Amino acid sequence: MSKRIGIIGSGTAGLQLAYSLHKDFDVTLLHYEEPDEIRRGRIQSTQVHFHPTLLREQRFLMPETDAAPSIRTIHFNMGQQKLFVGRLKGKATSVDQRLAYAKTMDDLARQGVRLRNGRVMRNELESLAESYELLIDATGKSGPLFSFPVDAELTPFHTPQRKCIVGYFTGVSPVEPEGISITVLPGAGEMFEIPALTEQGRVTILFIEAQPDGILDAFKGVRTARDFTDRMKSIVQDHLPEVYGRIDPDRFSLTDEAAYLQTAITPVVHHPYFMLNGTLVLGCGDSVILADPITGQGCNTASYCAEQLFETLMAHKESPWDEQIGIDYRNRTKSYVTAVTEWTNAMTEPLPEHIVQMLTQAATDQETADRIVHWFENPPKAHEAFFLT
Ligand SMILES: Cc1cc2nc3c(=O)[nH]c(=O)nc-3n(C[C@H](O)[C@H](O)[C@H](O)COP(=O)(O)OP(=O)(O)OC[C@H]3O[C@@H](n4cnc5c(N)ncnc54)[C@H](O)[C@@H]3O)c2cc1C
Repeated sequence: MSKRIGIIGSGTAGLQLAYSLHKDFDVTLLHYEEPDEIRRGRIQSTQVHFHPTLLREQRFLMPETDAAPSIRTIHFNMGQQKLFVGRLKGKATSVDQRLAYAKTMDDLARQGVRLRNGRVMRNELESLAESYELLIDATGKSGPLFSFPVDAELTPFHTPQRKCIVGYFTGVSPVEPEGISITVLPGAGEMFEIPALTEQGRVTILFIEAQPDGILDAFKGVRTARDFTDRMKSIVQDHLPEVYGRIDPDRFSLTDEAAYLQTAITPVVHHPYFMLNGTLVLGCGDSVILADPITGQGCNTASYCAEQLFETLMAHKESPWDEQIGIDYRNRTKSYVTAVTEWTNAMTEPLPEHIVQMLTQAATDQETADRIVHWFENPPKAHEAFFLT
């Protein structure tokens, strides 16, 4: 009989895990919202999936969204000065998670994967553990549900380093060549512009990472879509004139009433395994590796770790699943998680001098520009540049 796995959470981590595991194991996806509720819900992310993540999704035969804008470059601006346009090695995309998650859950159901609707509560974890050989906590940033110990070495902050302010807009002309545009306003924060696909078609995501109490932290008290749009327009006009120049004021609006978000993340990393009354519990995604979105890596890390979790289970398919499996999974992911976490945390602080010099050099050297942009596809390379050179 196949081993039984309960995956709690139907986000980036839970969905990829369900695809990768359902052919070899008896998988149940325990999810909290139905696809239609997700479609109608609030945006939660800017969800850029870099090329390695898209390759993993192909590997596990997840549904593709060909209509998504193809992101092949990253434009980098410091203040009002354009520094460089670097080329990614492979295509990246951003598909509204509301659309992607709902579509993927429908597809899993069609393939016969068992989906159980209902929020999993802490007081049912022990009885749930009796029904499975393995539980996977993929509950995202509202998790974890289980008491995974905090990894203190990778958890230096105890408060959010940025306020995250996101809106999905129409009426913004894309940068050329089309790609992500990053503008750093030293001492204030960053603006990311991301071409994306939503149910309403192609949009531009405007994503402000505001340093708390700085000039971009100007959305306090904003409660409606209308106020959010007006505030975004005035902030862009005052501080990001190049972006403002590409806005058509008559067409500038949110794609829908739920297409805006304000949040703030306190980064925290947990050890991703735990035994509950003899049942192994593993964590994957934000539930155990929660980072500020400044480097756009949360989905990509969730996808990387989900693949490593799959490989771990396949390597021990026939043996009993105990704590040793958790140790093996942690060992496989540890160096990547350390690299992405330390790089991401460093990006929320003033940049080291040698990195500022590299950014300046990239303005006149395409090879350096491409190397910097590749960091987003391969975080260990970023870590190397920040800490090991
Ligand atoms: C503003 C912002 C911008 C971002 N931009 C990017 C980006 O460009 N690129 C990138 O890679 N990452 C980005 N991220 C991070 C990325 O969105 C997350 O890292 C990623 O979605 C994590 O996937 P996950 O599966 O762990 O969690 P989620 O995608 O959050 O999914 C968790 C799921 O668990 C469910 N759940 C929660 N609790 C329970 C429960 N008790 N019972 C049942 N189900 C439950 C939830 O309903 C949800 O479906 C961004 C984050 C933010 C906040």
